[in-house]
Amino acid sequence: MSNHYHYDVVIIGAGAAGLTLALNLPKRYRVAILSKGDLKQGSTYRAQGGMAAVIDSEDSIDSHVADTLNAGAGLCRAEAVEFTVSHSGDAVTWLIDQGVKFTRVGEEDTSSPDYHLTREGGHSHRRILHAADATGRVIAKALIKQVKKAKNVTIFTSHIAVDLIKKRGHCQGAYVYDRKTDQVDVFSAPAVVLATGGASKAYLYTSNSDGASGDGIAMAWRAGCRVANMEFNQFHPTCLYHPHARTYLITEAVRGEGGLLLLPNGERFMDRFDKRAELAPRDIVARAIDYEMKRLGADCLYLDISHKSTDFLASHFPTVMKRCEKYGIDISRDPIPIVPAAHYTCGGVVVDTQGRSDIPGLYAIGETSCTGLHGANRMASNSLLECIVYARSAARHIDKHFNDFPKPKSAKDWDASRVTDSDEDVVISHNWDELRRFMWDYVGIVRTNKRLQRARNRIRLLQTEIDEYYSNYKVSNDLLELRNLAVVAELMINSAMNRKESRGLHYTLDYPNTHPVPQDTVLTPSTV
Ligand SMILES: Cc1cc2nc3c(=O)[nH]c(=O)nc-3n(C[C@H](O)[C@H](O)[C@H](O)COP(=O)(O)OP(=O)(O)OC[C@H]3O[C@@H](n4cnc5c(N)ncnc54)[C@H](O)[C@@H]3O)c2cc1C
Repeated sequence: MSNHYHYDVVIIGAGAAGLTLALNLPKRYRVAILSKGDLKQGSTYRAQGGMAAVIDSEDSIDSHVADTLNAGAGLCRAEAVEFTVSHSGDAVTWLIDQGVKFTRVGEEDTSSPDYHLTREGGHSHRRILHAADATGRVIAKALIKQVKKAKNVTIFTSHIAVDLIKKRGHCQGAYVYDRKTDQVDVFSAPAVVLATGGASKAYLYTSNSDGASGDGIAMAWRAGCRVANMEFNQFHPTCLYHPHARTYLITEAVRGEGGLLLLPNGERFMDRFDKRAELAPRDIVARAIDYEMKRLGADCLYLDISHKSTDFLASHFPTVMKRCEKYGIDISRDPIPIVPAAHYTCGGVVVDTQGRSDIPGLYAIGETSCTGLHGANRMASNSLLECIVYARSAARHIDKHFNDFPKPKSAKDWDASRVTDSDEDVVISHNWDELRRFMWDYVGIVRTNKRLQRARNRIRLLQTEIDEYYSNYKVSNDLLELRNLAVVAELMINSAMNRKESRGLHYTLDYPNTHPVPQDTVLTPSTV
């Protein structure tokens, strides 16, 4: 028997987007917020660099808009960009009101009377607010503290949404697997919000945590929502390669300070790809590393900063140094083994500026959504901003229209009568590994028609196996994630196959040119 919970709003996901939405709803709403693991699990907690916002008097909305459009390679939705950027100041004020302590200006910097602003790739002004090099953690901690104080919000950790509940065309809740009781419960609400983060776990190497399996995108797709631009996955060029390091990024500042990229034989190679060599933009460096790894069949390449003094390294890169030491790498002597890593999902559930999806009562915010802000390539530090701005506008919309939403009647219990305990979990672990490996090899940074076709053949076989397994055995965290990864992987493959050009983050050797007329890849469930 399932437990039945009734709320006004159910928010699936407790990162920057989900927490912000919960805190922006008026206190009269009874809100449930779900998280797969503990509250630190998502990408928000890992964000280092900062959040872009127009707060410097020298900067302007027009300039931030122009930079974002430029990074997005012709595919940004102008309305979404203007909406996001013009609300960036309010978003910052709101975060500060919640207790977020952004780094203040030091004596040596006069660009702002108050907050220290950095500059990152693609931005033509200093406009990145940050909290030292742990911005996401500082934001998350402040928001978690506020949510824990809010009497109208109940937090459910270790609760994994399985599928959405739809009645007469409206979303009215979700089936949710409780890891502690090992059973699936029913959460009913007139408004449901997907804030489940990205899908970068579809790739073998990723900077994201384990939960980034695209659950919200897969659930929305199964429920009938359109999904757009899934071919645009951003890769970070340098993630530490070590069997136990899992997902540790080596900051791009190492290259900025003279770090050299090397082949396994010690040869430099970046100048063959771009005259800026190691200082070329992120996507060019990632592509060059990928090309060389595939050409040589190498497991990793190297980033060498050992020519700098130990004192310099200790003062500039204390965290990198410490982390590498943990794995037996002395960066003052040894080159650092690196691979590129899947970092950010630009595509997602199609929404408008209020975060509304195609299904009434269902909203999607944060990395799960495709608002049109990022187009074909995300500009650094625009993603946290998008989380805050869209969460706030979705909260306003829910409040304004709440009385129009049909109130859910009791939903059916989850039917577990026909499933048994699995006696061969190896199917799950094998398929996890296989999927992430072929996505990396065939749908990665550099694509070809042949590679994509190979990936499509494999994903279809896996889909059949996973569906069969899902209908026969009890759900578990790994099975649910695998099922969702298979859906998002297929969406990525199909989107990549539909795009007969290279644009932004999608690069294919078969169509190296960019089409003069930019077009989104929008997939609709019934048409696939
Ligand atoms: C290493 C790293 C550095 C980054 N640096 C920056 C930066 O400097 N600036 C910037 O703007 N962006 C940065 N980003 C990107 C940015 O952090 C993310 O895009 C953003 O934090 C996403 O927030 P979110 O709320 O959408 O999702 P997340 O923070 O990923 O949260 C997702 C939540 O959903 C929950 N969830 C997922 N599936 C389910 C399910 N089925 N049921 C229940 N709960 C579920 C998870 O448990 C989690 O609570 C970085 C990302 C990474 C990985």
